[in-house]
Amino acid sequence: MQTYTPPLRDMKFVLTELHDFSRLTALEAFSEVDADLAETVLEEGGKFTSEVLLPLNMSGDREGCRLENGVVTTPHGFRDAYRQFCEGGWSALSAPPEYGGQGLPETIGMMLSEMICATNLSFGLYPGLTGGAMVALRKYGSEELKAQYLPKMISGEWSGSMCLTEAHCGTDLGLLRTKAVPQEDGTYRLSGSKIFISAGEHDLSENIIHLVLARLADAPAGIKGISLFLVPKFLLRDDGTPGERNGVLCTGIEHKMGIKASATCQLAFDDAKGWLVGAPHKGMQAMFAMMNAERLGVGIQGLGIAEVAYQSAVAYAKERLQGRSLAGAKYPALPADPIVVHPDVRRMLMTMRVNAEGCRALGAWVAMALDVAEHGGDERERRDAEDFVALMTPVVKAMFTDLGFESANLAMQTYGGHGYIADHGVEQFVRDSRIAMIYEGTNGIQALDLVGRKLPAHMGRNLRGLFHPIAAFIAENKENPLLGEMVTGLERAFGALQLATGQIAERGMKDPEEAGAAATDYLRLIGLVSLAYLWARTVAIAVPKSFAAGPDQAFYSAKIASARFFYDRVLPESASLYLKIKAGKASMMALADDAF
Ligand SMILES: Cc1cc2nc3c(=O)[nH]c(=O)nc-3n(C[C@H](O)[C@H](O)[C@H](O)COP(=O)(O)OP(=O)(O)OC[C@H]3O[C@@H](n4cnc5c(N)ncnc54)[C@H](O)[C@@H]3O)c2cc1C
Repeated sequence: MQTYTPPLRDMKFVLTELHDFSRLTALEAFSEVDADLAETVLEEGGKFTSEVLLPLNMSGDREGCRLENGVVTTPHGFRDAYRQFCEGGWSALSAPPEYGGQGLPETIGMMLSEMICATNLSFGLYPGLTGGAMVALRKYGSEELKAQYLPKMISGEWSGSMCLTEAHCGTDLGLLRTKAVPQEDGTYRLSGSKIFISAGEHDLSENIIHLVLARLADAPAGIKGISLFLVPKFLLRDDGTPGERNGVLCTGIEHKMGIKASATCQLAFDDAKGWLVGAPHKGMQAMFAMMNAERLGVGIQGLGIAEVAYQSAVAYAKERLQGRSLAGAKYPALPADPIVVHPDVRRMLMTMRVNAEGCRALGAWVAMALDVAEHGGDERERRDAEDFVALMTPVVKAMFTDLGFESANLAMQTYGGHGYIADHGVEQFVRDSRIAMIYEGTNGIQALDLVGRKLPAHMGRNLRGLFHPIAAFIAENKENPLLGEMVTGLERAFGALQLATGQIAERGMKDPEEAGAAATDYLRLIGLVSLAYLWARTVAIAVPKSFAAGPDQAFYSAKIASARFFYDRVLPESASLYLKIKAGKASMMALADDAF
């Protein structure tokens, strides 16, 4: 069964013990927020997601979306859930107060997103896309556009979509052909076809605000000739309410492996009226604001799936009776022991557990930096936080979604054949989570972004926010008896990361294919070392607290056990990743193209 209890205790640990939530609440923008408020909000969010969204997850998957005469109908129950989502103020949670948002930190917003993605990934795409569209609009839209559209998008009455992909152009957006023609009144007319547009058409909101990449007639070729436009499904009347239908039509929805309750649409723009967002030909810059928000959001999808897959697997492993423990029957009164006793099942459960808890800890670190980047007190503080977010965005997107998919697969394996059949809903996790490794820039492209752009930017400055705290922690804790061998393990993995970074910088400068060949392994290596650092800090916090008798003793003891598992069973991958990076491109590129 799909099993989910919101991981509120771990969220609290991550926010207030592992990371310093008071650093956020000390910022002027969050002066009315405190840890108690955050806890209450997350508790309520946990209720909404587990009581309203989770029950629609399997039924939504079975029913899917329907398209009839250009109208997309979402599965039974989605409209009501979306209405409750908006009425509960969830769409406005971390949106800016000047447009009607509640102004809570993005860090809390991301934790809510985790719970939404865990309980119903398909549902999460609708508000997720709106959130990304709002980021681009806020940053690059004119004051008039912002005033007209943001309040309704924040309330959820109107939703957003992101229209980049065309049939012949996915990763390489420089190839896109959708055209925009300027009009005398300052607006534009757009024509062209887009595919794979999530939430491009549906019945949840009153209007859909498409952010569309298109090319002006005088645009330079390639990526430098792309502009961003706002194209509403319904044009606004003078009083700001939706009126006449604009020239955007849904011509098809994709039949796909998973996230079946999320409408993935083909859209035809036929002389559709649009407004420029940002400067002409600078659309990629504006779109990147949206894509970065979406990339972090997609990483959180991986985390959500990792958590629900773990919990569902644990529930089954405690119930399913097969075989006896290798150490002798542990439950002799039963006809067989529950499979949770078997080391190989433990291997899977522990891997899933550290995937979810590690990603939550790292995700919160990045989310807090995102809040500081936007609201930090001084320029230096904001710049440092921005650097860190820039470095970690591809890591969060790619590593979290890889690990989410790994956990979904392990959950299926834990269920055996009962995971492969549809009854328990575990195969849905595998199908749903797979897309997260592909959309918003494939994970391979994230790795290229990391080594090709984020590492060399500002002469390597982005690395400081990660490398400095790790180096300081190692130096301070070399003799810390609470950590024992762990610091040595961290130091070794960090050393491999530093060597790999130097090699990529040196070889990549001479030969970009060398950087490309190392990219995916490097992304995982930097991700693993970041997790190792956070697990070591977790242990330093948990050991003293684990001695105090009380309700939390089991929580801290489990944290220590999980950290040990990570160091014994996951972190050793860093050595093989380093060897792969060191091997370079030679064997990868040896075959001629026509030899495949
Ligand atoms: C369910 C779903 C929802 C989606 N939602 C949206 C949406 O809302 N809006 C939107 O605009 N798009 C959306 N997409 C599109 C999605 O973002 C693209 O599918 C994705 O970016 C990859 O593009 P592509 O499929 O054309 O693959 P391609 O670009 O053809 O890539 C194929 C393979 O080649 C690799 N590759 C390509 N170029 C390079 C390179 N330069 N270096 C190294 N490797 C390379 C890729 O990593 C990949 O493995 C969605 C797709 C799906 C399936």
